[in-house]
Amino acid sequence: MSRKHFETDAIRTQINRTEFLEHSAPMYITSSFVFDDAEEMRAAFTGENPRNIYSRFTNPNTTEFVDKVCHMEGAQAGYAFATGMAAVFSSLAALLDSGDHIVSARSVFGSTHTLFTKYLPKWNIETSYFNVDQPQEIESLIRPTTKILFAETPTNPAVDILDLAYLGEVAKKHNLILVIDNCFATPYLQRPIEFGADLVIHSATKLMDGQGRVLGGITVGSEDLVNEIYLFSRNTGPAMSPFNAWILSKSLETLAVRMDRHCDNALKVATFLEEHPKINFVKYPFLKSHPQYEIAKKQMSQGGSILAFEIKGGVEAGRNFLNAVNLCSLTSNLGDTRTIVTHPASTTHSKLSVEDRLEVGISDGLVRVSIGLEHYEDIIADLKQALEA
Ligand SMILES: *Cc1c(COP(=O)(O)O)cnc(C)c1O
Repeated sequence: MSRKHFETDAIRTQINRTEFLEHSAPMYITSSFVFDDAEEMRAAFTGENPRNIYSRFTNPNTTEFVDKVCHMEGAQAGYAFATGMAAVFSSLAALLDSGDHIVSARSVFGSTHTLFTKYLPKWNIETSYFNVDQPQEIESLIRPTTKILFAETPTNPAVDILDLAYLGEVAKKHNLILVIDNCFATPYLQRPIEFGADLVIHSATKLMDGQGRVLGGITVGSEDLVNEIYLFSRNTGPAMSPFNAWILSKSLETLAVRMDRHCDNALKVATFLEEHPKINFVKYPFLKSHPQYEIAKKQMSQGGSILAFEIKGGVEAGRNFLNAVNLCSLTSNLGDTRTIVTHPASTTHSKLSVEDRLEVGISDGLVRVSIGLEHYEDIIADLKQALEA
């Protein structure tokens, strides 16, 4: 699908220049667009003459952002949302009817899990879960009403890997729509459509922006599915703001160079942690010790920027570790230039029972680190002093 190399498309995919011949695309901060006459307006509204009408539908800045991501993912079409969760919710809401059923990996992003367990049941949509280490369970969960197979890989926060080729095969065999949240990998490391995904979702808030500035989300995939999502969204209003699209489109120009450094730093930190005596294990997709290392190698070009490790001493040790870091930030974002540490058992997943936490790979001492772009020696020095504090 891409015309040139990843980096070149990321930089050179641009909306048309205006009469001012600007080099860098300007911001189109406007709610609506004007028509010359009644006929032009009529043809725009029927779709005979596709063009910008109103920024809830399309806007030049969001179009540029969407076009870039479509090139990156090898997708036919896309729609940009205000947040990653707006992308997840609107995409599912557009495609599912009352009585439909979802099969999902058990470990998915917290709000996605809440959507499945608390809100979709209001519209009579049920979800069944498989464990990430037992994908062979999937086929036994499929019902005549199953419409969507949903997964993230790598997973948040336990950094497990699901076999995209296998998911693609199962989805095809049972005629399911395969939806992959590709947030942790980014299209620079992994392109789920090549393995059979029908839709790919991103929280652009994370590595796509990569600098912790704006919220955003996007869904890309096959034209017919994206068109249904577009029509739903155009009427229900979860659109990305043109300002955020402008920021994110510029951010994508540096995605490749940022990801190379994120992954380089992360592998160095993971290798350091693996040898530390206060640590039981480190989970990083490109460490040989990762349980799904072979699958990661097959579908990702590098290991990503997120790793998880288990500190000896449970919840208390995890909390003490967070209190002892100096350089690293304690915040709930990830995929930032700044390294971020979190302790899921005492924060995002504290309401779950110990057993429920373990089912999604979160032990009491599990720490998640989103490796930033600081010099790796400074990141390692901070983690080292915190472990030894
Ligand atoms: C953050 C995140 C989301 C939600 O994105 P927002 O932009 O915060 O709404 C969805 N999926 C994954 C894997 C995430 O990390």
